[in-house]
Amino acid sequence: MSSTRGSTKRSASHKKNSITQKGDYYNLQEIYQRVNERYFEGKLALSIAWVGNKQAKPRTRIMFGSYNQRTQHIKIHRRLDASHVPMHFIEFVIYHEMLHHVLPPILTRRRRRIHHPVFIQREREFHAYDLAMSFREEVKRNWFNKD
Ligand SMILES: [Zn+2]
Repeated sequence: MSSTRGSTKRSASHKKNSITQKGDYYNLQEIYQRVNERYFEGKLALSIAWVGNKQAKPRTRIMFGSYNQRTQHIKIHRRLDASHVPMHFIEFVIYHEMLHHVLPPILTRRRRRIHHPVFIQREREFHAYDLAMSFREEVKRNWFNKD
């Protein structure tokens, strides 16, 4: 495995966004690119940035991430930029948002299905799906309001 992980060299095009992409622990752009290569043949060209703040009150419901189809922009909540959050979970949240780009909502007569069966099936292809799911449950209990 010839990984370039740990390299500090970064292309100039990423520099202007470094404030919102580089967190204290995780660099979103690097992780996004890795997920892109692993699951999407490096073909997606979406933008990504941290959003919110680490001290967000649990009273308001917080999403781990979101994807805006119109702007093709992924937002990841800054609360995930922490040492106790495993890398595979950040990867999973990014993967999930990227799936929203390739698998848009399905419109039925009754409603708009966002996490439809095909979506869920693809989501399960994530390499650390079970680990990510159990971490998500743990985090939901401790950080966020219940769904
Ligand atoms: Zn979703």
